[in-house]
Amino acid sequence: MRRPDFGRLSRGLRFRLTASYALIFALLFFIFAALFRERLKTTLAEQSQDDLNQEWAAMKGGYLEIDRGVQPPGSPEKAFWKYDDTDQDESRTFAEIKSLYLIADARGHAINEVINENDSGEPAVSAAYKDLGIDRPADIERRVRDGVAPGKPNATPFTTRRNSEGERFLIRSGIFYDMRLDSTGHRLPFYVAIGKSLEHDDRTLHEFTLVFVGVIPVALLLGSLMGWFMTGRALKPVLSVARTAQRISGSNLSLRIPTRHAGDELDYLILTFNRMIEGLEASFQQIKQFSTDVSHELRTPITGIRGQLEVALFTAKTTDQYREAMFNALQDIDRLSQIVRALLLLSQAESGQLTLQKSRLNLGEIVKDLVEEFQIPAEAAAVRLTADVPDDCFAGIDRVQIERMITNLLSNAIKFTPENGSVRVRLRPAEDRFEIVVEDTGCGIPTEYLPHIFDRFYRVPGSGTAPGPEQGLGLGLSFVAWIVKAHEGKIEVESAPGKGTRFTITLPAADVPADVLELERQSAG
Ligand code: ADP
Repeated sequence: MRRPDFGRLSRGLRFRLTASYALIFALLFFIFAALFRERLKTTLAEQSQDDLNQEWAAMKGGYLEIDRGVQPPGSPEKAFWKYDDTDQDESRTFAEIKSLYLIADARGHAINEVINENDSGEPAVSAAYKDLGIDRPADIERRVRDGVAPGKPNATPFTTRRNSEGERFLIRSGIFYDMRLDSTGHRLPFYVAIGKSLEHDDRTLHEFTLVFVGVIPVALLLGSLMGWFMTGRALKPVLSVARTAQRISGSNLSLRIPTRHAGDELDYLILTFNRMIEGLEASFQQIKQFSTDVSHELRTPITGIRGQLEVALFTAKTTDQYREAMFNALQDIDRLSQIVRALLLLSQAESGQLTLQKSRLNLGEIVKDLVEEFQIPAEAAAVRLTADVPDDCFAGIDRVQIERMITNLLSNAIKFTPENGSVRVRLRPAEDRFEIVVEDTGCGIPTEYLPHIFDRFYRVPGSGTAPGPEQGLGLGLSFVAWIVKAHEGKIEVESAPGKGTRFTITLPAADVPADVLELERQSAG
């Protein structure tokens, strides 16, 4: 069989784990960075809008006054920049306002001029605003008519534009009113726009994007290295487990993988593996023991047959001598076939080929009949055999196997009970189970041998039965144990040497499947 290359397998696993680790790492980083960038963008935009709103509020607060003029009527409108040039804060705000502005009348034309702090006239459009392109008069007119003020539905006072060099600007526009009332008692509206370069915001965002794009490969690399290192560490013990496992074979099943005492999943795996090997070792041991026992058991009758045949062939002279040799050989052959039959049955049982044929039966009746049958050998052995069994005790059982089980227990009890002793069988039904007790006042079994009595071919040393045709095979209790297990019950044994032995079997009064019951009813009807 080709051995799998554990080195290659682990490399494959390590690579896959590392790749997934790095991928997840990079993906998380990407999601995080993208969310962060989006947040940064919004914050920067809000910051710029706040700046312009503040400048706007300052203008409204008095930095800008528009006077359409009174003398003569229809004379050009004028605006005035007003601020305290000794106040540093005011000067700074004012400088920002003056970097980008447009003051137009309600028809969309820039007004004549703005009078600055030195009383000299300046154009009503800053050079930077011109570079952005002055709004079309029709647009301004519409905006003045509709009103562009924060809070108006569907109207934002903010727009963005690019200058001739592609630099982005944020424009905040709105309506200003003439200082004076006109003849109808109204104030004339004017259109005013101020702006701010977004270059700084754009650069910040761009730099962030560059860093973020640059960092992704680094993150991937770092993630991969970390993943490679960590999976390597995690897989190392797995490899050592695999190597030890490879060394274990049928001939050295005593090898165990040492646990690392880390209390982790791997230790659990090692523990499970060791337990499995332990089980295998026990089975191997059992098989070995079994073949030794079988050959030993077979050798005795075969030697007997051979001996008898030799007698017949070389020493027997009279017909009686021939007959005796043949009779003895036949007895040995009987024992041989008895062993073979029992072995065959046991191996069928243990390999699962022998399945139970359960039906609903009166166990009370079965036990009584068997006790009746055993009265003859009991009498022959001068043993008193009694039964304490209810008339009706129905249960789902396999008749053949349950009879075999009770027969084995009864014949053992009679066999190992000396003259004038007694054997008692009791059947005690309970709600969902029943108990069969077979007790005797026989020789008993010393405690140290008790754990082995259910093993195949096991006979308690010095248990009395002389070697020969009457000697048990040591297989009876193995059968009993199998039958109890197949019925999902349990068997217990108590014994006191010289006083007696008690076997207690508890079986569930398992329900017979409905279809079987139906078949039984049909056949009965
Ligand atoms: P065997 O065919 O020898 O009876 P079993 O498997 O039925 O084989 O029993 C195994 C051994 O357990 C017996 O050889 C005997 O030593 C002991 N044993 C079984 N039943 C009794 C009993 N009722 N009293 C004393 N010893 C018993």
